[in-house]
Amino acid sequence: HNTAVTVLGLGAMGAALARALVKAGHPTTVWNRSASKAQSLVAEGASAASTPYGAVRASDVIVVCLLDHDSVHDVLDPVAGELAGRTLINVTTTQPEHSRELAEWAAREGVAYLDGGIMAVPEMIGQPGSSILYSGSADVFERSRPLLDLWGESTYFGEDAGLASLYDLALLAGMYVMFAGFLHGAAMVAPAGVTAGEFARRAAPWLTAMTGAFAGFAEVVDGGDYTVPGQQSLEFSSLDDMLAASAGQGIGTEAVAMVQRLIQRQIDAGHGAEGFARIYESIKQPAAAR
Ligand code: NDP
Repeated sequence: HNTAVTVLGLGAMGAALARALVKAGHPTTVWNRSASKAQSLVAEGASAASTPYGAVRASDVIVVCLLDHDSVHDVLDPVAGELAGRTLINVTTTQPEHSRELAEWAAREGVAYLDGGIMAVPEMIGQPGSSILYSGSADVFERSRPLLDLWGESTYFGEDAGLASLYDLALLAGMYVMFAGFLHGAAMVAPAGVTAGEFARRAAPWLTAMTGAFAGFAEVVDGGDYTVPGQQSLEFSSLDDMLAASAGQGIGTEAVAMVQRLIQRQIDAGHGAEGFARIYESIKQPAAAR
């Protein structure tokens, strides 16, 4: 017996989630603000509702995948009465505080709430490598596992509805800074006639290999002792040559200068002989607060 599910929001991601449900045989009702986006899903077997109200009434489990926190309230506030007693799974990317606010809102309205952070692009949904992080109601997570597991690997972080968002954004922070570093490198070699494509072919295996260093940094950070032998020191990690070479190529230096500042603050505080992982302390203590 397959649970009936409603999906609100058929952007690139919402449509992929709905498609996986339809394929698995869940009676699936869909709604999107621009109605035309429901057409292909209806052709695949979904039912389209013309209003959020009708969509919510169709199922006990409501999945929301809209643009942002505001759009979630825009769609759900008017149908709160109809949501009462149902299960809400919100996989819209939001800040932790927004997830907590929605969980409190749901509790007031008598709605069981699970928050999700999607670590995948739409094409990956239901494929290997797709991972979705959840927090909020443990009961909803357990009950919904058969459905959630259709989308990717499901991980539950606890009752605090903000945790999945926090973890999601932390992983994205790592990704964006790495992407900026890659693009900085591409800009450095461009004046030498190297295409970004050529650079990407070298950068991808290099950066992949370098992720092997995470575990060592983590051990030092968790151990709290940056003097552990065998680490590359902060003094040795000066990015001056990199900054000079970037400037010499006539490109901006912000992406690299940011890391150099984190290093320099620790050197200035007298920790130059300690390990590179110590820049974690620069990050933990914002410069403005010192
Ligand atoms: P899209 O831009 O493709 O779709 C946005 C959706 O939100 C559309 O259905 C749009 O409706 C709807 N929407 C926006 N504002 C409102 C509003 N005020 N009222 C009603 N509906 C509204 O985004 P995605 O599908 O790609 O992303 C959806 C969520 O998934 C986002 O939070 C995103 O961060 C997250 N996500 C996306 C990933 C991706 O790779 N795409 C990866 C991981 C997470 P309409 O069609 O009418 O404009």
